[in-house]
Amino acid sequence: MVASIKPHRDELGLGDGRMLIDGDWVTAADEATWSHVHPATGEQVAEFPVATPADVDRAVKAARRAFDEGPWPHARAGERVRVLRTIADLVREHADELMKLQALDNSVPLSFGEIYAMSPGFVADVFDHHAGWADKIAGETLPPYQGGDHMVLTLREPVGVVGAVIPWNAPLVLFAQKVAPALAAGCTVVLKPSEYATFAVLRLAQLIEETDLPAGVLNVVTGPGDPAGQALISHPMVDKLSFTGSRAVGQKVMVAAAAGCKRVSLELGGKSPSVVFQDADIGTAAAVTMGTVTLGLSGQVCAAQTRALVHRDAVEEFLATAELIGTMVSYGSPFDPEVTSAPLINTRQLDRVLGLIARGQEEGARLVCGGGRADGDELAHGNFVAPTLFADVSNDMSIAREEIFGPVLSVIPFDSEQEAVRLANDTDYGLAATVWTSDVRRAMRMTKAIKAGTVGVNGYQLEPNSPFGGFRQSGLGREGGRAAIESYTELKTVLLPFTDEMM
Ligand code: NAP
Ligand code: MG
Repeated sequence: MVASIKPHRDELGLGDGRMLIDGDWVTAADEATWSHVHPATGEQVAEFPVATPADVDRAVKAARRAFDEGPWPHARAGERVRVLRTIADLVREHADELMKLQALDNSVPLSFGEIYAMSPGFVADVFDHHAGWADKIAGETLPPYQGGDHMVLTLREPVGVVGAVIPWNAPLVLFAQKVAPALAAGCTVVLKPSEYATFAVLRLAQLIEETDLPAGVLNVVTGPGDPAGQALISHPMVDKLSFTGSRAVGQKVMVAAAAGCKRVSLELGGKSPSVVFQDADIGTAAAVTMGTVTLGLSGQVCAAQTRALVHRDAVEEFLATAELIGTMVSYGSPFDPEVTSAPLINTRQLDRVLGLIARGQEEGARLVCGGGRADGDELAHGNFVAPTLFADVSNDMSIAREEIFGPVLSVIPFDSEQEAVRLANDTDYGLAATVWTSDVRRAMRMTKAIKAGTVGVNGYQLEPNSPFGGFRQSGLGREGGRAAIESYTELKTVLLPFTDEMM
């Protein structure tokens, strides 16, 4: 049995959660709650409210009032900078506590939480990055094109009430990627975290309450996608939807947005390639590719490169190293410093991943390692899957087409650069890619040819200030950078005549 998580819960003083609506911490209208089951141990962690559509309505109306009548949309830029910087400071101050709460949510090992892109340091940097934008959201002055003496100005105004929905795999980072630009732009927010990762988000919202942000500007409603999420995305008083999650739910968000012609940003899934040429450092390429698919979140990462396209001459060397990395995965309590990887978030995902692994074998891929639940009676209460490596995969197999969201890497051989490009782009998605090569000209050709939102050369990392998002069915819009902040604004054109009536 994996060591109980309850002593950590008690040490943190985590009790049942409440929702944040209009500055008050409240239960659901009907007092309904959801009990969170820890994915590594199967223990009940604590409860939180299941928002009814009436609760969501109250939260949206609070955000609407805070936007239409409250001071935040008109706050001086300096005031917004100060609030966002204070949030960043609070996140750094409470980093340890936030990481532990996240481990109680989704069992991300504390050892992995220290990796920059998963860390509270990254979360704080996202708030700092957007604090930097808050006083630089500017319009333009355009030359008059025709007519008499006049001026044309553009203004960037906050888009309004934002309905944000995030998944469970990186709740703190994804909260920041939505809330930071929304607040920096002067919007108000209703956010729904995943029912599988609620407690770290509630604590972060509590920290934000310690700042001078007016009540009603940030609201958090908890509970499952249906009804809480559905009520939020279809609420007519929401101006913009900002969603991170699966393609299937992203499509529902677009449908809901269509009803009110709402603004919409989507960060969806991927089936990203790691393209390994024979002139690359094959060992490093294999270690990093297999590592990102099996260590930490066990492949439950949107940008995970789960298709390794490997030059045929390098396949054997690649497989040998990748298999070795698979043996380094160690499962257990996320609080154990020796543990490297997480269980799958719930039994539904466990069944789905095991089903896709079985399909891979049925469709003719060669199983190199893994292929089922992780061994050991002590792991039986958690959703652990053995690191799985498939060779001889062809790009039309299910394991090469579907986002698995588990520790499964598919190795697909290629013979030419042209074939590598074709395979890399032969997917519905387009979120991320890495090109492994020592030839700089090849690297440049490949980065231009691959249809993906972020393409790394000989590595891949997330940066808090760089745009991140997807081509094609991986999403709409970007998080981070100018594009992100502008997506929380409306652009207004002002025509200003210099006529005699004007003083
Ligand atoms: P999901 O099932 O799409 O859920 C995402 C969020 O949507 C959760 O809060 C979920 O609530 C909510 N939801 C479900 N049904 C809804 C509905 N009808 N209306 C409104 N909200 C609804 O995704 P997931 O399984 O949690 O997360 C994994 C997916 O997220 C993967 O596809 C991954 O690639 C993607 N992802 C993308 C990025 C990126 O930046 N591109 C980052 C991380 C993850 P409940 O969970 O409470 O049901
Ligand atoms: Mg889901």
